[in-house]
Amino acid sequence: MEEKKQINRRQFLKRMGFTGIGLASTMLLDPITSVAGNVLKEDKKKNPNIKMTYRVNRNTKDSVSLLGFGMMRLPNTNRVINQNEVNAMVDYAIANGVNYFDTAPVYHGGKSETATGIALGRHKREDFFIATKLSNFQKEQWTKEASMKMYHDSFKNLGVKVIDYYLLHAIGGNGPNELKERFEDNGMMEFLVKEREAGRIRNLGFSYHGDVKVFDYFLSQHSKYHWDFVQIQMNYVDWRHASMKGSREEADGDAEYLYNRLTKLNIPVVIMEPLRGGRLANVPKDVENDLKAMRPDDSIASWAFRWCGTYPNVLTALSGMSKMEHVEDNIKTFSPLEPCTEKENSILAAAADKIEGYPTIPCTQCNYCMPCPFGVNIPGNFAYYNEKIDKRIIPLPERDAKDYMERAAEFKDGFHKALKVEEDATKCRDCGICLAKCPQKIRIPTQMSRIKEVLNA
Ligand code: SF4
Ligand code: SF4
Repeated sequence: MEEKKQINRRQFLKRMGFTGIGLASTMLLDPITSVAGNVLKEDKKKNPNIKMTYRVNRNTKDSVSLLGFGMMRLPNTNRVINQNEVNAMVDYAIANGVNYFDTAPVYHGGKSETATGIALGRHKREDFFIATKLSNFQKEQWTKEASMKMYHDSFKNLGVKVIDYYLLHAIGGNGPNELKERFEDNGMMEFLVKEREAGRIRNLGFSYHGDVKVFDYFLSQHSKYHWDFVQIQMNYVDWRHASMKGSREEADGDAEYLYNRLTKLNIPVVIMEPLRGGRLANVPKDVENDLKAMRPDDSIASWAFRWCGTYPNVLTALSGMSKMEHVEDNIKTFSPLEPCTEKENSILAAAADKIEGYPTIPCTQCNYCMPCPFGVNIPGNFAYYNEKIDKRIIPLPERDAKDYMERAAEFKDGFHKALKVEEDATKCRDCGICLAKCPQKIRIPTQMSRIKEVLNA
C-alpha cells in the first residue's frame, strides 16, 4: 500500500512537469563535488584558459571532466576509422580540459580500443582517464579463457598499464542469473576485484541496458563488490518515459528510477546516450522552435547536455562525438556548465512528452546489431526513418491519406540518396539474428516492416 502511494506520488509529480531534480537532490547523501566554471589547481597550472566543469570522484578523488568522450562513433570511411581525425579531435578535447575517454572491445568492430590507444598514447598518461569494458556478450565468450583474453587485450590495445574505469558491459539482457552465470561461475568477478586491489583497475562498475530486475539484483550485491560507478542511459526523454523493458512497474524502468537508486547508494553515475543516439540534437520542428525561442544562440544538443550536467550525482556525461564541430560545441556547453533553471526543466519536460508522441524507433545507433548477414544497414535505416518522422515527412496512412503517395515518393527518393539499395529494409529476411544483440530490445525485423511498407508503397 505504502509502495503504491509512492509510485502514485512520482507519477503525479511527472504529470505536473517536475523533472525530479529537487526530489533527487533531497535524496543525495554525499554529492559529488562540482567544480563549475573553474578548474582544479593542477589543471589550472597546465592551461589557465580551461573553463571545463569537473566533478570529483569521491572514491579515487579523480577530477573528471563533466563531458566525457565516447569512442563508439568515431569518424570513418566505409567503416575504416580515420585516425588523423580522431587524433585531432582528441588533441582538441584534451587541450580544452576533457579527460575521460570511454571505449570497449566491441566498438567499431573491435577497432575503437586501438584507435583510442593511438590517439591517447600521444599524450601524458596523467592527462586522461580511460574507461573500457568486459564486452563478453555472446555466451561462448563467457568462459574464463575468453573473458581473460578480452581483459588482457584491452591493456595491449590501449597501451596502458592501468585501466581507470572498468565496466561489466551491457548488463541486463541475460535474465536474472546474469551476474552468476556470466561473471561469477567463471571466476571473473573474483579476478576483477583482485585486479582492483592490485591497482590495475582503479574503479570497477557496470553499464546497464535492459531488464530492471537485473539492475536491482546487481545493486543488491553492492555490499559484496562495491560498485565504484554505474553507467546508465539518461536523457530528458528517458527520464520521463520508460525505455527499459521488463520493468516491474512502468515507472521503475525509466532513468529517474535508475539515477535515484544509484544516488541513494552513493554510487556515482556515468551517463550514456545523453542525446538518445543523436536524436535529441535533431528534434521535431515544434520542439526546436520552443528551445530556440528561449536560447537562440545555443545548439539543440546543448540543452540535452546541460540537463544531464545539472544532476549532482553525475560524474561525467559521455558524448559519442564523430566530428570536430561536435567536440567544439560540447566543450562550449560544459565550459562552464550552466545548470538548467526550473523553467528550462519544465520546457524540456514538455519537449519530452512531445518527442515521445512521435512514432519513432528507439534506436540509439550503437551498432551492436551489426553486421546483418543479409547486408541491411540497421542503424542507417532507423536513423533515416526517425529523421523523416520528426520532420513529419514520413507518410502515415491514417494521417496523410490525401497525399500519401507523394510523401512516400519523397521518402523513397531521399532514402536511396542516404543509403545504398543493397542496405535497405527490403533486404531484411526476418532471420532474427540481430534481435538478441540489441540492448534497446527493439523488434528489428518488425520495425524494418514499417520502413518496407513505405518503400513498397
Ligand atoms: S532480422 Fe533482418 S535486419 Fe536482422 S539480421 Fe536478420 S535480415 Fe538482418
Ligand atoms: S537497432 Fe538496437 S543494436 Fe542496432 S543500432 Fe539500434 S539500438 Fe543499437
